[in-house]
Amino acid sequence: TRTYVVTGAASGIGKATVEHLRAQGHTVFGVDIRDTDIIADLSTDDGRASLVEQANRLSGGRLDGVIAVAGLVAPKPITVRVNYFGAKATLESLQPLLTKSDAPRAAVVASMGALTEVDDDLLALLLADDEPGAVEAAERLGTTTLATGMSPIYATTKNAIARYVRIHAKDDQWSGAGIALNAIAPGVIETPMVAATLATEEGRAAMAEGAPAPLNGPAAPPTAPAALLAWLTSEENSFVTGQIIFIDGGAESILRPELV
Ligand code: NAD
Repeated sequence: TRTYVVTGAASGIGKATVEHLRAQGHTVFGVDIRDTDIIADLSTDDGRASLVEQANRLSGGRLDGVIAVAGLVAPKPITVRVNYFGAKATLESLQPLLTKSDAPRAAVVASMGALTEVDDDLLALLLADDEPGAVEAAERLGTTTLATGMSPIYATTKNAIARYVRIHAKDDQWSGAGIALNAIAPGVIETPMVAATLATEEGRAAMAEGAPAPLNGPAAPPTAPAALLAWLTSEENSFVTGQIIFIDGGAESILRPELV
């Protein structure tokens, strides 16, 4: 059996992923701000340091899989801290523990939202690893929304973390160390994050337009992305890396059919 760390473990996709891996007999340390094994606030440096300390202690310094799921959708600066810098810190700070595994794998949850309009200033600051600058840019963006009703803060953080995977999977730290690094980009998944939106006719219509899902849509249960994350971080995945895998009932293929 393998040993995993999964962030965002208290709810939604993270919780379903923990349950999926445990049902396969693996050891899993959940990470969240509440209700799980490792309590750590990924929006802060202290919380990120505490994650590494606790993960080292609980795992004995060796992990086979790291899955960064924790995220927020609120149009607020904290979304920048958790979705990009918290996810990046999770991956990079636990990478040394992965190097002790015979079949190390990492994955992060981006979003179909990464395909909508991004804010170029915020994106540049994220990719430059400038957390104070990115937080200020998010403060300036405030509660502006895109035509789809989505916050450019959310869309940009998800675009940036997907780019992180595209840019870095080939690096010595990842491929060079035998570690597969991938992202998934879910369409609409039935979790507390989108429950309020899915509860109104207007919200459902906006989501169906932004993420039309002809296969088993309009939304999937969190067990769907959980199974994909489990496979991407399993021993079986020896050759998929640097990919953004859309799990969206076909939405991405409808929105950009020319891309092959
Ligand atoms: P959720 O709200 O059910 O779960 C998110 C979890 O992240 C919560 O348990 C929350 O406590 C945790 N979290 C938030 N801030 C944190 C922090 N500072 N430190 C540690 N943990 C923190 O939402 P979900 O739908 O399961 O979302 C999981 C991921 O999937 C997110 O990254 C989200 O952006 C992404 N996603 C969701 C959907 C969807 O339709 N639900 C679609 C695309 C992408």
